[in-house]
Amino acid sequence: MDFSHIEERLSAYKPDPEFRDDAVGLQCCQLAFSALKNGDYGVGAILLDPDGAPLIFSQNAVFSDGFCSSGHAEMKLLDLYEASYRSKYEPDELKLVVSLEPCPMCLSRLILSGIGIIKYMVDDAVGGMVNRIDHMPPAWRNLASLQSFYRAHISSDLKLLAKDIAQARMPELRAKLMNERVGQHEFEVVFDSH
Ligand SMILES: [Zn+2]
Repeated sequence: MDFSHIEERLSAYKPDPEFRDDAVGLQCCQLAFSALKNGDYGVGAILLDPDGAPLIFSQNAVFSDGFCSSGHAEMKLLDLYEASYRSKYEPDELKLVVSLEPCPMCLSRLILSGIGIIKYMVDDAVGGMVNRIDHMPPAWRNLASLQSFYRAHISSDLKLLAKDIAQARMPELRAKLMNERVGQHEFEVVFDSH
């Protein structure tokens, strides 16, 4: 696939100081684009320390390093944080910025992690869970009430760029997952009939 049109917009974009999350948002887009080029979902995430400086950079890697169902940017970031940084920084003093609305798996993990502030750049109407957080079980909603979930404060141009990077392979990769399941299912049906 040719992503040169996205790459041109990405390299031409200058963070707009009017929007407080624009600079970190651009970095998330750069990570997301790197994932996209690797054949993964175009999603990137950054964990910021209490002073707002980047602590951990992460990008989606579901397909590129052998199939990894938990290879979402937020999951990998939290693995690294809990393994290497949790003794230094309490989770509630940290902020995570991610280029796409977290999915059900990642929202669950974010709630358990206790990261204080989660900001996402683009809504995911068909896969996102933050906008459906009221559908989490009561105990999870209780935990989530200690955290803050926001849409990132970014320019409309950067938001569109994050959306286009997230969407670029989404139909292809979601179809790939579906087709693999359908293929396995057909095999099982044939097997059961004997
Ligand atoms: Zn996810």
